Formats: sequence, C-alpha cells, structure tokens
Amino acid sequence: MGQPNSLPSADVYFEAIRNGDRTILSRAITLVESNRSDHQEIARELIEKCLSFSGNSIRLGITGVPGVGKSTFIEALGTHIAEEQNEKLAVLAIDPSSSKTKGSILGDKTRMEQLTKSNNAFIRPSPAGDSLGGVTRRTYESIILCEAAGFNRIFVETVGVGQSETAVYHMVDFFLLLMLAGAGDELQGIKKGIMEMADAVVINKADGENKEAARKAELEYRRALHLFPLGEDGWTPRTATCSALTKEGIEGVWQIVLEHHEELQETGWLEKKRQQQTVHRLHERISDILRSGFYNDAEIKKALPEIETRVLNGELTSYSAADELIRSYLA
Ligand code: GDP
Repeated sequence: MGQPNSLPSADVYFEAIRNGDRTILSRAITLVESNRSDHQEIARELIEKCLSFSGNSIRLGITGVPGVGKSTFIEALGTHIAEEQNEKLAVLAIDPSSSKTKGSILGDKTRMEQLTKSNNAFIRPSPAGDSLGGVTRRTYESIILCEAAGFNRIFVETVGVGQSETAVYHMVDFFLLLMLAGAGDELQGIKKGIMEMADAVVINKADGENKEAARKAELEYRRALHLFPLGEDGWTPRTATCSALTKEGIEGVWQIVLEHHEELQETGWLEKKRQQQTVHRLHERISDILRSGFYNDAEIKKALPEIETRVLNGELTSYSAADELIRSYLA
C-alpha cells in the first residue's frame, strides 16, 4: 500500500486502525496531513468512520517554551502511564518550525528515548503547517485516529510561543502549562492569554538547588491564577512543582489530571466542553476555507501585490484596501 496511484480505501485503513495496526495508523495520519484533495477525500471518510469509536480517552495538552523540559516531562509521565499503569498512550507533537525558518524546533535531538521503546506508546511529531486552521484540523483528526486505534491517553505537545496553543486548548480536556522558576514571564515568552487557559501551571526542574525557587514560583503562580475568573467548568486551576529529570512530583501532576477528569465527568462538563469544542472547530474550519479560497483566488493573487504597494506608500488605507479586495472577491 502507499503507492501514490493505488491508495487503499477508507475501509482498509479503518479495519487496520481498529485492529491496532500502528504502521497503518501512521500512514493514516500522513493522509490527514496531506493537502492533496484525493488524500483528503479518503481521510474525511476515514474520520467519519472513526468518530464513533473515539472520545474514550483523557486528552492532555502540554505547552511551554523551548527548553522548559517538555520532552523530558513527557518521557517521564508517559513512561509512568504506558509502562507502570499499562495504559495506551499516543503523543502528538506539533512542530512549529515555520516555512520561514525551515528549521525544526522539535527536530533532531533524540527525544523520549525510553518512551519510544514502549509497546504501549505511539509518538508522532506533526508539522504545524502554514495555517492555524490546518493545525487544528490535522491534530484533531490525528486524535480521533489514535483513539479509534485504542489509545486512551492522548498528549498533544506544543511549543508555547505561537498561536497553536489556542488551537490545542480547544481540542484537549486539560491544558497544562510548564514553567521554570526564576525566569520572568516575559523571558519565558508566555502570554497572559496562555496562563488564563491553563488548568494547571507546573514548575519543572524543581530539583537540586532549584527546588526552593520552584516552590516560591509555584506560590506566585497560584496567586496569579486566583486573579483570573473561574472557567465555566468550575475547575480551579492548580499549581505544582516537579522534576522531569528525577521524576519527583510527576505522579502528582498526573493525579491532578485524573482528578480533573473525574470532576468534569461527574458534573457533565467533560461532554459539554467537548461539544463546545466541536462548535469552535466548525468556526475555525469555516474561516480556514474562506481564507484559503480568498488567497488562492486568481484575481486576488494578481491584485494583491499592487494593493500592498499602495498601502505601503500610504496611497490607500489598509481598511479601504481590504474592503476593496473583499468586494471584488465576492462580486
Ligand atoms: P523542551 O525543549 O521543552 O522539550 O525541553 P527538553 O525536555 O528538551 O529539556 C531541555 C533541557 O532541560 C534538557 O537538557 C533537559 O535534560 C533539561 N531538563 C528537563 N527537565 C529537567 C528537570 O526536571 N530538571 C533539570 N535539572 N533539567 C531538566
């Protein structure tokens, strides 16, 4: 299979995924990541089939700036879940390397060496791509595929510097923000908006001489989180410290995630949250389609450079330029 001209049908993918075939799961994710319309068609059919077998999981989003220890943390927590708790864990990592830099942030270093060897774990880096809508669709569809393949613990890792956090926030049950002690928020590049989305702020590298500072930082974050209004789901954001290196505190973090899951299941908010997320995705999808329709329109493509120059030269305001373009697009 996998020949460009003889793609298997959605049914073939589906059966193999349901049987837990990881190679096919991997290829199916490649399929949902593809922009080719024939690939997308099969992917869409496959997702429809998988949807009713999805949802039976804990979806955890993990974010934090490069160097905070995300991969070490996922290695530690993931190994605990996959090896000690014998649960099936899928890790989807969004690699934000943009087309601008071509480089890869998650790239070359050997990440999650131990977890990679676990039979219960499936690790998949995904390119973020050019559009936010693209990230959302692909990552969400990958979650569905993994769940249909029997994975009941899903981690979505994203680097806390760009827009993809918001996208990830809208597809997970629990959003975890990893931070460091002793570095100001500014330095950590974390926007207030991301703090506000967090269900837990966890100070990593709480080991050795850094332990005390981590505890102090935790208190500060606890105070800061109290200033935000409670989310509608009634969950009070939590704080913790851990060391991904020594594994101290890692189980405690997972305990918080489990408590959250239990609480939201009891109150009915888990289902409600996921339903609301579906509506959010609907709107993201609509904007994505409209946006790409607009920018791929031949007339718009032709007109844009000149309009940009006129805006640049101050001959035209950005507002009237946008209005003009949209009007000609819709005409
Ligand atoms: P990422 O870029 O967020 O994925 O961060 P990494 O997991 O690659 O970690 C960055 C560096 O911090 C590596 O050198 C890790 O060994 C180190 N590191 C990660 N977690 C801890 C920790 O809990 N304690 C200490 N002391 N170092 C850590």
